[in-house]
Amino acid sequence: MCRVTRRELLLGSAALFSLTKSDWELLEALGVDAQAAAALPEVGKVDPVAEGVYFHQGNLAVGHCNNGWVIFEDYVLVIDANFPSGALEVLPKIRALTDKPIRFAFDTHHHGDHAYGNQVWVENGAVPVAHTGVVEEMKKYETGYYGNTPGRWEDAVKGRPDVKVSKLKPPSLLFPKELIFDDGKKRIELMHLGVAHTHGDAFAWMPKEKILFTGDACVNGPYNFVGDGNVEKWVGTLEAAKKLGAKVVCPGHGPRDAETMLIRQQKFFQTLREKVGELVKAKKSAEQVRDSVERINKEIKADTAIAHYAGNSLKAQAEKVYTEMTGGKFPAAQKAANDARRLHAHVHGHVHQHHV
Ligand SMILES: [Zn+2]
Repeated sequence: MCRVTRRELLLGSAALFSLTKSDWELLEALGVDAQAAAALPEVGKVDPVAEGVYFHQGNLAVGHCNNGWVIFEDYVLVIDANFPSGALEVLPKIRALTDKPIRFAFDTHHHGDHAYGNQVWVENGAVPVAHTGVVEEMKKYETGYYGNTPGRWEDAVKGRPDVKVSKLKPPSLLFPKELIFDDGKKRIELMHLGVAHTHGDAFAWMPKEKILFTGDACVNGPYNFVGDGNVEKWVGTLEAAKKLGAKVVCPGHGPRDAETMLIRQQKFFQTLREKVGELVKAKKSAEQVRDSVERINKEIKADTAIAHYAGNSLKAQAEKVYTEMTGGKFPAAQKAANDARRLHAHVHGHVHQHHV
C-alpha cells in the first residue's frame, strides 16, 4: 500500500527540485509559456465563485489542472483529482475552509493531470466518480491495471515522483449519462454531453448559480490536446454545453471567465475545420494542407476572439481535423502526432516537480 504523504512527495521530488532547461524548451515548443503561466497571480489562489463553490487554477509548469470544489450541507465534492501533487496542494486549502468530509472526487476525464490523484482523495475518504467512458478510455490508453497493456500511467511512474509514490485508483462510482447531487440547498449535475476532448468527458453544472466546470472540453489558452477526442463532435458537444446558459465557466486549464469562453473555444475549432475543409474541398494534397498550417495559425492569431488558442499544437490539431475529414494523414504525420503526444505526455506526465 503506497500512501502518498506530503513528506514522501517532498523526498521523492527533492532530487528534481526545478525544471531542467529542456523541460522549459518542451513547454515552449508546445506553445505554453509555462513560466509566465505559473507566475500569474491567480494561479494557486482559492477563488470563491459563489457561496460554497470554489475554483483553483493549477500550475501548468508542474502539469497541474484546475480544480473546483463544492461544499454541500454534509460533505464536499471535488472537481478533478489532479495529479497526486496537485491533489496534495489543494487538499489543505479545502481543509482550511471546512471540516466536512470530502466524499467525492469527480474526474472530468481520464488524463493523468485530472485522474492520477484519485488515490490521494481515496486516502482522505472520497470515492472517485466519473462517466463510464472514463474507465473505457483508461483501459484503452492509460494502464495495464485491467490486465491489458501498460500505458501512460506506467510511463508517468517513471517520470513523476508524485505518481511514483502513489498508485492508480480508477473511478469506481460510474454514471452512463448523468449523476445529480442535490441536498436541497446545493445542486450539481455531472453530465456527459458527447465526445469532445476524449470519449468520456463530463461537465459539472450548477443550475442555480449557473456555474459550469468543463474539464478539458473547454480550456482558456493554447492547451487543446485533440489526440483522444474528435474535433467535429467536440463542436457539437460545446453547442450542448452552451445551451445550459452558464454565467461562469471554469475550464480545465487557464483562467475562469464568462460563458463567452465556450463560444470562443467552439469558434476556434469551427474556424480550424472551415480552413482545413476549404483545402480538402479544393482537393489539395495532404502535403499542401500540412504546408498551410503556418498560414492558418497566423489567421487564427489575427482573430482576437480566438487568438489565444493558436500555438505550436496547431499542426497536430489541423492533422486531426484532416484525418477526420479524409481518413488520411499528413506526410510524416506519424512524427507530428508522436511529437504532440510526447509533448502532451511531457506536460501532463513527465514534468518534474519544483514544488509540492
Ligand atoms: Zn486532458
